[in-house]
Amino acid sequence: MKRSEMETELFCTQCMDHTLHQISYLNEKISKIECEQCHHVVKLRLDVKKEFLKESYYKAVSKPGQIRRELKEGKGDFLIHFPARVVTKPYRLVKYLNESWKVVKASRTEQDQKK
Ligand SMILES: [Zn+2]
Repeated sequence: MKRSEMETELFCTQCMDHTLHQISYLNEKISKIECEQCHHVVKLRLDVKKEFLKESYYKAVSKPGQIRRELKEGKGDFLIHFPARVVTKPYRLVKYLNESWKVVKASRTEQDQKK
């Protein structure tokens, strides 16, 4: 689970102008867009828990044979979501999942506070 941010100019419906917006990503998917001028927030309904489970499945359950099969079947996004080195190093996997879980928990708390 990875959280990242980038800035870009977008049209803000509150400012009625093009302003600088901060775009937050969770695993390459946009989770939030915020106008830096008026702080108007557009939240996208991203199911964080589902993302986490999907990612964990790809990382933990998949066996090398399964990877080869999926690659043969041309499931393109499998390749993108699967860093192969994780499987050969269980410690890394556990560490990675723990860190991912922290991100899940943090975004949950964030959502609760804004309710
Ligand atoms: Zn604005």
